[in-house]
Amino acid sequence: MTDKVLTLETLRHEPRYQAAYEAVVGAIFGKDRFAFDLISARNAFAELLTLNRSRLNQMYEANWRPMQPASKRQNALNCPPFAGAIASYSCTRSGYCPFCWGRGVVEIFRCFERIFFGRGSIYDKGIQTTEMPRRCKLIRFNTLWRFPKLRQTKDWSSALAFVPNQTNGLKATKRFPNNIFWRIASYPSAEVDALNAVFGYVMHRVDFSPDDPNVLTLERSGLALVPYWASVMDYYDSDLAQQLRTRRPVKSFIQDLGEPNRIALLKGVSEAFHYPRGLLYHTKVNEVVSLLERVDHHMITATFGASDRDQLLKAIAEPSDITHDNVL
Ligand SMILES: [Zn+2]
Repeated sequence: MTDKVLTLETLRHEPRYQAAYEAVVGAIFGKDRFAFDLISARNAFAELLTLNRSRLNQMYEANWRPMQPASKRQNALNCPPFAGAIASYSCTRSGYCPFCWGRGVVEIFRCFERIFFGRGSIYDKGIQTTEMPRRCKLIRFNTLWRFPKLRQTKDWSSALAFVPNQTNGLKATKRFPNNIFWRIASYPSAEVDALNAVFGYVMHRVDFSPDDPNVLTLERSGLALVPYWASVMDYYDSDLAQQLRTRRPVKSFIQDLGEPNRIALLKGVSEAFHYPRGLLYHTKVNEVVSLLERVDHHMITATFGASDRDQLLKAIAEPSDITHDNVL
């Protein structure tokens, strides 16, 4: 994927970069600290670059393998911001690097644009002129599990051993039969299904709890498109609990963002796919390194449901429309 050359002056005309900016800069420094304008963005990226480099040096000292040897360390230190520079190079340490995380968020936004407007549409090229699909609403969901570090590191090692991607799902299933890992790994689309969604984008994110650095959190968060006539609030919790059947407490919520317009998508993407800021701020660097090495946690995401705009429109057609077509 080649990003076009972007200047800071054009930032505010690019909702996808704004979404990434809020998901990364907003999550790390706080939403109120940096507005999305030329001067603020420049300051924010400069500050993040300094913070990230200092963290990377700590992680290098702690023997984080993706930074050894020194040539790879330089590669990570030089990774450019996801906007405001020529993004012809990236370090690809996307599970940690805040700039690569931002590039990932840009791709997620682009993915939604393609579903909404079709590949190759004007909007796909970055200009919003096409009409948004009606008859559906955008729902943000979040499911959170907490793993306190109580019995030495036993709970954490279990959490860290869970790798929610396709290649490792089976391994996790065998290693942890009948527990939360099995449920999560074997049902990646649980939230999307519980919402009766026609399209969903899901992310697994591991982080240190902001309330307690001795608690590890595993979140599955994302966005789903649901036909406006479908009832979501009534059944979601019970459906989700039934499908996941986890023994540990699960915190979950959904938020109705309304009709999928630019504002809803910006809000949804920046909140659902935000950067795990604990990786930058957790005081014990060794534990951050351990987390990243064990989880192999490269911003794991998955999509479910419609694969293009035509399929989406078909899926959100009212049941009465379909009957009418059949009669004709
Ligand atoms: Zn990077």
